[in-house]
Amino acid sequence: MPEGQVSHRNAIVLTRAIAGDPLVRVDVAEPRLGPQRIAERLEGDVLDRMEARGKHHLFVFRSGRVLHSHLRMGGVWRAYPATAEVPRGGLWLALATQQAVVAQYRGPVLRLYEPGEPLPATQALGPDLLHEQADPAAIGRRLLGIEPTRQVGDAVMDQRVMSGIGNVYKSETLFLAGIDPWRAVGSLAPHEAEAIGAIGSELLAIGVRDRGRIRTYRPPLGTARPGERTWVYGRRGRPCRECGTPVRSRGQGDANRTTYWCARCQA
Ligand SMILES: [Zn+2]
Repeated sequence: MPEGQVSHRNAIVLTRAIAGDPLVRVDVAEPRLGPQRIAERLEGDVLDRMEARGKHHLFVFRSGRVLHSHLRMGGVWRAYPATAEVPRGGLWLALATQQAVVAQYRGPVLRLYEPGEPLPATQALGPDLLHEQADPAAIGRRLLGIEPTRQVGDAVMDQRVMSGIGNVYKSETLFLAGIDPWRAVGSLAPHEAEAIGAIGSELLAIGVRDRGRIRTYRPPLGTARPGERTWVYGRRGRPCRECGTPVRSRGQGDANRTTYWCARCQA
């Protein structure tokens, strides 16, 4: 699942690829996009920048039009040189300048908005943990302001509370914060809620610097084994790196997304 840091990585790569040059070709490959007449509306336009807000991608054009993309579980963006053969399997949309092509595969959310048209999908988003002004205290207050009986491991995934945390960062953030994912939000002290905001932001920033790869655990030099990238995520039954207690996992929340935790470190 694309997490916030994938969106931010895409913002850098896709902006670098096509921003500032007119679109010479807009290739709409997915029939469901047909009614939007995206090619007619975008050809000749110039991408100003691509912004990531949580997992939302917003392509802002000079005309004021905004292309909104959300990758959900399976969508992906790729950038190619203009001379490359762009793979067609799963292709939804390709935007080409003289220099480069950016291509979107498997949607599933892609919509072009006219200048000034409100962007309904992102209006309700909470503070983006990767935004430069991400304020852990403000994120903490927002977390404490929601329905107090909700479990912490469910609430941090709620993009209205804070955006950017996906399933991996949920487990890793709460482990590093030392907070039991099954606790009710209403039981959090303000400093605990703030710690969740601060650690979440820090992990996502590391992910961007790491070119979108998720690596939250850095083994001591010389001891690394392949696949050692996380503190608890994906490590069910293996010893906690801090205390040796076997890591546990269980589905959580309405979507039943698996949460990993150490029952001793996160008591
Ligand atoms: Zn432990």
